[in-house]
Amino acid sequence: MAAAPPARPCPACGGAASLPGPRLPTLALVRCAACGLLYVPEAPTRDGLLAFYGEAYFRSADSREVGYTDYLADEGNIRATFRRRLRDLVRLAPPGRVLSVGEAHGFFLDEARRLGFVGTGIELSDTAARHAREGLGLDVRTGPLEDASLPPASFDWAVLYDVVEHFADPAAALVRVASALRPGGLCVLTTPDVEAPTARATGASWMGWKSPGEHLSYFSRRTLRGLLRRSGLRPIRERYVGKFVTGDLFVRRIRLYLPGLARAFASAGRLLGLPGRVYVNPYDIIEVVARRA
Ligand SMILES: [Zn+2]
Repeated sequence: MAAAPPARPCPACGGAASLPGPRLPTLALVRCAACGLLYVPEAPTRDGLLAFYGEAYFRSADSREVGYTDYLADEGNIRATFRRRLRDLVRLAPPGRVLSVGEAHGFFLDEARRLGFVGTGIELSDTAARHAREGLGLDVRTGPLEDASLPPASFDWAVLYDVVEHFADPAAALVRVASALRPGGLCVLTTPDVEAPTARATGASWMGWKSPGEHLSYFSRRTLRGLLRRSGLRPIRERYVGKFVTGDLFVRRIRLYLPGLARAFASAGRLLGLPGRVYVNPYDIIEVVARRA
């Protein structure tokens, strides 16, 4: 039997030793022996990553496999989700200059602007970034974070929604984000929690497992905390967050896990009028707020 090629060093802590990850039908992961991070062992290439986030990423035939079904068609739900998160964030600190990494089409910065934030976005997909610039008049730059020119200590906030799991080098990315924040500035991240109760209960059918090119790291609350601390960011709050989805998508998603509940919801919806928008929190997306030292 041919031996597996050696895994790359851990992208969170640099540890060289790794152990086999969980047994999954379509995904071979390793676990860092030092910090416990689960990650894709093959080193991603810069060209491969840039090619991945083309137009197809935000309009995919099967979002269980890769990307989003139709990001633009879901705009109302995405904006409602951001408004809900922003209402919570401004209770922690006032609106200010915000860096949004992985900003996509500009919906987050557009909602933030209404509350008084002044935003700069970074986005790999030029189609999405152009939508934000030309359609919404936002400062959203096309390209990877490592190419963006960010004056040190120039932001009060940094927001990375569902993006840290995509970075080839999350440690370097968070050091860049931390240096762009002023001391005392807040960094807000969301990412799937591979050790969440939902993830443990659903095993190989968990929604959080993605194709090897898309999610490169699978964080837990512990491995994410460690990464933040090593980057000069001190975690101050953790919670699970959900998102708004349309009623029929909600039914299709819960059918994967709880067919009985899906049938009950669908028939109640037919009797009572299915709500167009439902806030769903599956308790597997962790949001961490961390403060720059
Ligand atoms: Zn590690």
